Amino acid sequence: MSVLVSGTVALDSIHTSTAAHENLLGGSASYASLAAALSAPVHLCAIVGTDFPAEHRALFAAKKIDTANLEETEGKTFSWTGRYHDDMNHRETLAVDIAALEKFNPQLTPAAAASKILLLANMSPENQLAVVKQCTASPFVILDSMDLWINIAREGLLEVMKKADLFVINEDEAKLFTESGNLVKAGQRLLAMGPRHVIVKKGEHGSMIFGPDGQFFTTPAYPLEAVADPTGAGDSFAGGLAGHLAATGATDFPALCRAAVVGGVTASFTCEAFGVARLAALDRASLDTRMAHFRHVTGW
Ligand code: AMP
Repeated sequence: MSVLVSGTVALDSIHTSTAAHENLLGGSASYASLAAALSAPVHLCAIVGTDFPAEHRALFAAKKIDTANLEETEGKTFSWTGRYHDDMNHRETLAVDIAALEKFNPQLTPAAAASKILLLANMSPENQLAVVKQCTASPFVILDSMDLWINIAREGLLEVMKKADLFVINEDEAKLFTESGNLVKAGQRLLAMGPRHVIVKKGEHGSMIFGPDGQFFTTPAYPLEAVADPTGAGDSFAGGLAGHLAATGATDFPALCRAAVVGGVTASFTCEAFGVARLAALDRASLDTRMAHFRHVTGW
């Protein structure tokens, strides 16, 4: 079973208290595709400018990610600059250049449209809707979003949420969206907005899954001794989860719980180096080894 990932492909500049890197491969769909490709064939749907480096395309090709839906348009690639503070749990966006994203009008190839698992990674709800409407195989729809869209495109986001089988959002954004300081209440309120399941990501503290009929699961994150750069951890979580669902073909509640653990362990690798560096170097055997260690230390 293949996964269709749609979102942003970006050039990121990332500053932490100890280092800074410019023009790295980033974007929600880049992290998510690389993570999903560890488990399943991936179609990547996004847009870049003519400045997009050939080496990044070569990386997607090396991971057998189908880029037939990676459109190239005149001008610059979407770019994002962010800075982390000492504890790495908080970041601020220093600069954003929408550039090519403004022209994004996704048109899926028949093969991509026939995917059974769809991951709508972070991008505008308008673009997310355009992708989901072209899908031909009633896919299992995983939807990610962020504070920007909650604040400026709430109506569109509410519309896509109604089409989502699984809505993934981080802790602070869940609280912002539902105006609740309690995460259990926040999860329940998000479920009431339409998605069949909700995952609230809690960064280094793991994630919680809410399903129909009061189904609930919670898991810790894989404990890391050092975090170099958490950028893309959320996207890697969603990508790892989507890849696992595609590989097993199951999407019931226990399958979602297992997939969330795979997503969390995948995301832990992303945090170990800047940008996609660690994820790009990751192989299946290393993921399996860390999964086994995670099971051992959590009794899972
Ligand atoms: P995460 O750390 O999982 O929230 O994802 C960070 C990635 O999201 C970076 O690589 C950025 O390029 C990308 N990004 C930042 N802002 C946006 C946005 N408004 N829409 C989509 N992707 C974004």
